[in-house]
Amino acid sequence: MPDQPRILVIEDEPPLQKLLRVTLAASGYQVIESATAGDGIIQAATTPPDLIILDLGLPDADGVEVIRRIREWSSMPIIVVTARGKEQDKIVALDAGADDYLTKPFSVGELLARVRVVLRHLATLQTDSAATQISFANIQIDLAKREVLKSGNRLQLTPTEYRLMITLVKNSGKVMTHAQLLKEVWGPDATHENHYVRVFMNQLRQKIEDDPSDPKHFLTETGIGYRFFADN
Ligand code: CA
Repeated sequence: MPDQPRILVIEDEPPLQKLLRVTLAASGYQVIESATAGDGIIQAATTPPDLIILDLGLPDADGVEVIRRIREWSSMPIIVVTARGKEQDKIVALDAGADDYLTKPFSVGELLARVRVVLRHLATLQTDSAATQISFANIQIDLAKREVLKSGNRLQLTPTEYRLMITLVKNSGKVMTHAQLLKEVWGPDATHENHYVRVFMNQLRQKIEDDPSDPKHFLTETGIGYRFFADN
């Protein structure tokens, strides 16, 4: 079927290759495979997939190098696969432009959920690029007027809270690291002040979330950053 999303799996461990191939094919995805960074980059360029699942530990190069190379010419979604506990590896991969990560060992359900989120995010981006209105739950955002309504009542957001919200909403489903948020919201010079993000995120949740202590939209990725979900 030509409409099946194509997923390029760049992975060198046979058991994991098999798990990914079988699981994704059974869910109706078309699977292409590479076992090295070099071949993966060539495959991504010659037959561009809808999504890449990328192991960070490859025999010929670090997976982060693959992300950097692909990001020179493409914004195709990339989910990285890393070993548990390597928080810093995830952050480096996300900062290089990965969209999400899976920690080994992962469940089939977790894998498919991440794939769906990233592909749905892509669909939203493609259809909504010219939209000036964004809405989720009881929140309506008018991008042209920079106005935010909650259940029809106008919210008073500071310019920084607004920028933080828009940055996350426009990257719906994608993990944004502290460094990425600092760069987008505060500018390129503010890259080491992680507590800024935490303080403004608390303020934003107080205003947007129905229960700020149990957020449904602006979620914490512990040790890494934040992620927005419209429907959670
Ligand atoms: Ca590996």
